[in-house]
Amino acid sequence: MAKGGMIGLVNYAKEPGSVELRELPVPEIGEGDVLLKVQAVGICGSDLHQYHGKHSWGVNYPVVLGHEFSGVIESLGGRVSGFREGDRVVSETAAVLPRDSALIRQGLYNLEPGRLGFGYGVDGAMASYVKVPSRCLHHIPTTLATEVAALTEPCCVAYNAVCVNSRVQPGSAVAVIGPGPIGLLCAAMAKFAGAGHLLVVGTPSDAKRLEVASQIGADTVLGAHGEDVPAWVKNFGDGYGMDLVIDAAGVSASLQLGLEIVRPAGQITKVGWGPQPLGFSLDPLVQKAVTLQGSFSHNWPVWERVIALLATGKIDVAPMLNLVSPLADWKQAFDSMHAGEIVKGVLKP
Ligand SMILES: [Zn+2]
Repeated sequence: MAKGGMIGLVNYAKEPGSVELRELPVPEIGEGDVLLKVQAVGICGSDLHQYHGKHSWGVNYPVVLGHEFSGVIESLGGRVSGFREGDRVVSETAAVLPRDSALIRQGLYNLEPGRLGFGYGVDGAMASYVKVPSRCLHHIPTTLATEVAALTEPCCVAYNAVCVNSRVQPGSAVAVIGPGPIGLLCAAMAKFAGAGHLLVVGTPSDAKRLEVASQIGADTVLGAHGEDVPAWVKNFGDGYGMDLVIDAAGVSASLQLGLEIVRPAGQITKVGWGPQPLGFSLDPLVQKAVTLQGSFSHNWPVWERVIALLATGKIDVAPMLNLVSPLADWKQAFDSMHAGEIVKGVLKP
């Protein structure tokens, strides 16, 4: 049983740069919780947004960052069943849910407005230990490496966007706008789901990430040299456009490009956030009878399937996992991910 203190990476205020390592007490667990010894924790774009004070969601300061993690169960509350000390697990992100939420009964607790997640609502996993309700946990097989397991969460975001909320059939022409970690994982999922031609679109600052897109199987990458994307799409296939556009860019403006390159009766799935108002007409959505679909987070069946895909190597995140660092070197890791030098970094507390 862990006692005493631990080190955690704390986001303590909204002001940019308000993140530091602090000595904290080891969390006390309730009857339905486990105390997890964190083995690896992925850095998410949302951690970077909170670090830079550029997030658009409420944060319960001070809070330990980190919601993409794997670990080993250190101890368990009295009412936990199905898990034992020493079990290797990954955790979902809905740390707190209203008990009588109708969305829990629907299996859609990821969409419950009253949910609180690790890393902003409650203390997350960029620390030696994290307290986790046992309902969040999934066992992982020995074939799944700790660092790869930490990427289960973003893989689940991509799986839910591409394989659950989108219509993708073998041979579908798919475009992904925005080659950040989520966009690249969406590209990998689209490829796995049978995409015929996979196009990944970025900007000149995405040059490194677009190289990774090619490594994971994109047939065409555009944007590193300011290419004209709509012109390319007009010359592709029969010229009507892409069956499916995944908008993972994280700015509102990319939806305009999506509307331009999507095929009539096609689909745009928006997984990237963008607090800016649109500033353009949605008439192409009407005229083309396009389905505009949002996608957020993930739920239990998605986790089980993604764990199976990662454990068997059917989805390979190696091209994206460019850095594994000790927690003490968090700042370097955050900065190089923000600069686009690496796609994804993992910290080891
Ligand atoms: Zn995330």
